Amino acid sequence: MNQVALITGASRGIGRGIALQLARLGFDLVLNYRSNRDAAEATARDCATAAMAVGKEILVELCAADISKGQDRATLLQFTKQNFSRLDLLVNNAGVAPRERRDLLEATEESFDELIDVNLKGPFFLTQAVARYFLELRAKVGAKFRPKIVTISSISAYTASVNRGDYCVSKAGLSMMTALFAARLAGAGINVYEIRPGIIATDMTSGVKEKYDALIANGLTPIPRWGEADDVARAVGAIAQDLFPFSTGGVINVDGGFHLRRL
Ligand code: NAP
Repeated sequence: MNQVALITGASRGIGRGIALQLARLGFDLVLNYRSNRDAAEATARDCATAAMAVGKEILVELCAADISKGQDRATLLQFTKQNFSRLDLLVNNAGVAPRERRDLLEATEESFDELIDVNLKGPFFLTQAVARYFLELRAKVGAKFRPKIVTISSISAYTASVNRGDYCVSKAGLSMMTALFAARLAGAGINVYEIRPGIIATDMTSGVKEKYDALIANGLTPIPRWGEADDVARAVGAIAQDLFPFSTGGVINVDGGFHLRRL
């Protein structure tokens, strides 16, 4: 029987890359998205093809749900239970940038609420619900069941961008969320990880491409290129394969070395 992964925001960008990577590793997949059904269907087809290309047979199911809404999160987990009766990996990936970048002194409460709801409250309570399910499964299956939780945060967890403070605060919150769930769940054999991507080429960054092209050309990142969704996906793949069994609560930087202090 295949292991099962639930990936939020899997229709496009980094989530899509993670889905393709886990498909190649032979995971059955629940691909969550908010509204872009066409993109989600394309990702599902590509996952099946990617798995087949390496001789794996997988099941891929799509589930539309807005992770900022409690009822939708419940539906997403119920859908996973009904279709697979198990879950081995949760990837909290879905997230949004502010609709409009605004200076900190002009920032609105509306944008703050939206970003906290989608980027922090959604993952927090989805993780809580999934953790309870993991504990139920572990009580049945025993200690050999060692599921995992991965959260995609950002270099914005510690980098102050004064024109999108709401985004930074939401991502900083995810770092504490990882620490909290890691500490709470370690005794139950559930490891929890944070992946901090740097500047990754997706729809989210397409509007600021020229700005980042210039920054990268001027040495912003020691590895002088944009990141790809697949760079992040490979790190998730390593966790999914249990290559960090004695690590929990840790941060994996996938940022071309952006986090290094240099002189
Ligand atoms: P993206 O290309 O804009 O894709 C966002 C994905 O999230 C889509 O699948 C979208 O679904 C889904 N989504 C958005 N709101 C949702 C909601 N309320 N409920 C469920 N799904 C929702 O973004 P990305 O660049 O791949 O970013 C993915 C994650 O990586 C985000 O958490 C982001 O903050 C983080 N990140 C990105 C970068 C970067 O440079 N791109 C860097 C660091 C961290 P639909 O297709 O249905 O809209």
